[in-house]
Amino acid sequence: MMQLSVPLNFIGFIYREIRQGLTDIEQMFDLLDVPQEVVDKPDAKPLAIANGKVEFRDVHFAYDAARPILKGISFTVPAGKTVAIVGPSGAGKSTISRLLYRFYDIQQGAILIDGQDVRDVTQKSLRAVIGMVPQDTVLFNDTIAYNIRYGRVDASEAEVEEAAELAQIAHFIEALPDGYETMVGERGLKLSGGEKQRVAIARTILKAPPILILDEATSALDTHTEQEIQTSLDLVSRGRTTIVIAHRLSTIIRADEIIVLRDGLIAERGSHTHLLKEKGLYAQMWDRQREATEAEERLRIARESD
Ligand code: ADP
Ligand code: MG
Repeated sequence: MMQLSVPLNFIGFIYREIRQGLTDIEQMFDLLDVPQEVVDKPDAKPLAIANGKVEFRDVHFAYDAARPILKGISFTVPAGKTVAIVGPSGAGKSTISRLLYRFYDIQQGAILIDGQDVRDVTQKSLRAVIGMVPQDTVLFNDTIAYNIRYGRVDASEAEVEEAAELAQIAHFIEALPDGYETMVGERGLKLSGGEKQRVAIARTILKAPPILILDEATSALDTHTEQEIQTSLDLVSRGRTTIVIAHRLSTIIRADEIIVLRDGLIAERGSHTHLLKEKGLYAQMWDRQREATEAEERLRIARESD
């Protein structure tokens, strides 16, 4: 999607600079922290999507050979089901989403969609079936309508508005002087994190992909906004194969499977009730979050009675 934020002419500039000194194109990508281009195989075929079953089979991955991030991850998301991934910050959760989208190629193992290795199909066909609501949504310097319609360029005005409605951002847009024609982005109206995320959700509703990746990052939002976003996210993921990366555990209680990632391995897995019974890392995370929520609640009540 819009991961490449460095202008191409800047890359050209750096490239020339480096060629004079190091003659190492790979190092250039390392310096820029830009994903190295993955390329289609010469005989790559379009992905033949059936129900959208996703499978990670013993996946090993490192951005930098010296520091492995994923050290043998296996899980399956059956068609239409939801798998949640939780774990400490830096555990490799967002990396899993980037690998499914094939921003990078893995070093060992396989990632399959309906039995087809993502490396064997065209990137275009792969990305067409996956909708991603990323941690940080970047908007185009264009109108809100354009930013939503990006999900499906031939969508009608009514469809764009319906998607905005479902993503709970329609009221906000309609209250703007220029409505859907309001310019947003760096050179337009600055939207809050929650508003940007709802634009991304509207875009994904329009795209209606068989496979969804939600990298929530709702922890920075206030509880009210978070609940609104959660409702929209639940709506989008209904009946779709979904991988949800959760920061607040309360949002994934109903996931078909919860995977706890730690140090590049799956430390625990199972349903919410199963994991609580295990009294392991998940149970600890749950207790900590519940205490924090309760403390927040007590504070709110105390403030209201002042
Ligand atoms: P999480 O989403 O679980 O917080 P990430 O998957 O984003 O974690 O990152 C896992 C690890 O990989 C982190 O230590 C992070 O610093 C590192 N990492 C993430 N992106 C890159 C990158 N483009 N290049 C090198 N290291 C990266
Ligand atoms: Mg992350």
